[in-house]
Amino acid sequence: MRILIAGLLALALSACANMERPVAKPEWTLLIHGGAGVMRRAEMTPEMDAAYRAGLNDALDAGTRVLAGGGTALDAVEASVRVLEDNPNFNAGRGAVLTREGVAELDASIMDGRDRNAGAVAQVRTVKNPIRAARHVMEKSGRVMFAGPDVDEMAATAGLDIVQPDYFITPRRKQQLERTMAGEVNPMDRYGTVGAVAMDAQGNLAAATSTGGMNAKPPGRVGDSPIVGAGTYADNASCAVSATGDGEYFIRVSVARMICARVAMQGMRAEQAAQVTLDEVKALGGTGGVIVLSHDGSVALSTNTEGMFRGRADATGRREVAIYLDE
Ligand code: ASP
Repeated sequence: MRILIAGLLALALSACANMERPVAKPEWTLLIHGGAGVMRRAEMTPEMDAAYRAGLNDALDAGTRVLAGGGTALDAVEASVRVLEDNPNFNAGRGAVLTREGVAELDASIMDGRDRNAGAVAQVRTVKNPIRAARHVMEKSGRVMFAGPDVDEMAATAGLDIVQPDYFITPRRKQQLERTMAGEVNPMDRYGTVGAVAMDAQGNLAAATSTGGMNAKPPGRVGDSPIVGAGTYADNASCAVSATGDGEYFIRVSVARMICARVAMQGMRAEQAAQVTLDEVKALGGTGGVIVLSHDGSVALSTNTEGMFRGRADATGRREVAIYLDE
């Protein structure tokens, strides 16, 4: 009898040892992106490479300060995106790509995973930080989305920073537009959009995305970035997503919501849900990338293009920025 009990005990113990232990979630996690697309080492000067990495690090710093200080995921994603909007190298806020007519028309959205409250703005022309306007819409308007000159007016009334339209225009984007209008096709001229997703110490998720859209877009064209469920999504029960890429395809696939649905309903981890959904986009002819942070702590920084400006930081001290696919 004693031998039997000892044997059963040994069996039970070994079963416990073999059980897959869930990997502990870091106390907080932050992912950012600065757009996906054609990024070739050979065509990137060392100065530009360093400038992009510095910009990504600045954005990680801003979000990390919030999260490490016990702040919310919502404040963190807004802080990171604001830094990227202010950086003229990224396609959002200052340095955004221009419409065919040479103006910056900016789109942004933000979502809180706690209650799926969301705010979005489109075709902004004078609000310095469109992500601030999106948050204002979310928290103060009782609505989800506003577009056009009324957003600029609402933001001014609310006391947000307002700038002249030419604040957003940089010489580099002007040249890009001129090249495109002259019929020159340079795939490196196309990429853009910035975004962030975060989980805070309370386990809450949030996502934010901001963009100038696509170089030489027709005035009035709106892509996926301000569309909740396409370019941005956050729900504590599934995941937080910010996307970048061919907006029309991302809208048609409802990329951000689709990824979260796959996490929630099919039990996929972030990486797999991102991959399957980006494959769907590709099958229609679209390219781009996503950052995904799942409620289970799994993460994805995935793209079906040649590279994506991206960064990651968490409470364990992990800290990375990357551009090309092979890093
Ligand atoms: N998704 C953005 C848009 O379609 C552009 C981009 O991410 O490159 O407006």
